[in-house]
Amino acid sequence: MSPGKPSILVTGGAGYIGSHTVLALKQAGYDVVILDNLVYGHRDLVEQVLQVELIIGDTSDRALLDNLFQSRNFAAVMHFSAYAYVGESVTDPAKYYRNNVVGTLVLLEAMQAASIKKFVFSSTCATYGVPDVVPIPENHPQNPINPYGTTKLMVERILADFDVAYGLKSVRFRYFNAAGAHPQGLLGEDHNPETHLIPLVLLTALGKRESISIFGTDYPTPDGTCIRDYIHVNDLADAHILGLEYLLKGGESDVFNLGNGQGFSVREVIAAAEQVTGLTIPIVECDRRPGDPPSLIGSGEKARKILGWQPQYPDIKDIVTHAWQWHLGRHK
Ligand code: UDP
Repeated sequence: MSPGKPSILVTGGAGYIGSHTVLALKQAGYDVVILDNLVYGHRDLVEQVLQVELIIGDTSDRALLDNLFQSRNFAAVMHFSAYAYVGESVTDPAKYYRNNVVGTLVLLEAMQAASIKKFVFSSTCATYGVPDVVPIPENHPQNPINPYGTTKLMVERILADFDVAYGLKSVRFRYFNAAGAHPQGLLGEDHNPETHLIPLVLLTALGKRESISIFGTDYPTPDGTCIRDYIHVNDLADAHILGLEYLLKGGESDVFNLGNGQGFSVREVIAAAEQVTGLTIPIVECDRRPGDPPSLIGSGEKARKILGWQPQYPDIKDIVTHAWQWHLGRHK
């Protein structure tokens, strides 16, 4: 640890976005401790790549948190851990409210008891629901259309109230579609089950799946398929460091979209993957997936202006290239 750089607790640091952020924090000289229950996180990544202290446990374990906060002096908590399968949140909402809302509330209460006053929170563009305008600005109404989005919105509201009542300062990041992998191949996206478009397209290119299903070809978009704003996971990690430093310097609570302001359709993503891999990727046109808005594009202007955020990899080909390198490395 560099002299003067404080300790940060990262929940969900063994997961996709969390692990990329932990690496960026380490490289910036912070002392990092990960709290992860390893339901979806990867112990081997922490041990072999991140090489920081890993505490295995839940954010809803108040005794564990009290012990941890008594024995360490954290300047801030970055909270990535959450369940994030939209479809599952519809069929099993209790699981999502318990983990994402109640688990976060216990964490916030333990922080309050330990006088830790800075919090960086992973929220989502799913809190907006079906947008009236794109690119979506932060002050767009939030009307989530699935329980996952609702859990994240509830925590955003809790954070606003905790600021007024207890002085908890938070940065809430609303991610658009996190994608890609570490540019040098150290880390990548490894969900089980995998539901996201780019890894599924690349697994198809690798022959691990027969075809990629296109969910809906009759959307009101130029090629009929859904448009999303894919944001490189390393650019997300950079934004987290900036958000943390903003809070450590005494910044007020605020909310920022993390998107490129540019969208790509499902067909455009598949075409980019065919270019990057040099392979033909078989497609099957399917019905719409319930709960998918036609187009989600986020304005990242506020994060650029206030935090000085500069995404390094807005090009979909870079995003797919880095993801492809990661998949090739894993399936050698
Ligand atoms: N999608 C698709 N086939 C798949 C997975 C996803 O057509 O096998 C579409 C999905 O309907 C959405 C876009 O790709 O429009 C991105 O989906 P993903 O699950 O990656 O992220 P989401 O937008 O749901 O957060």
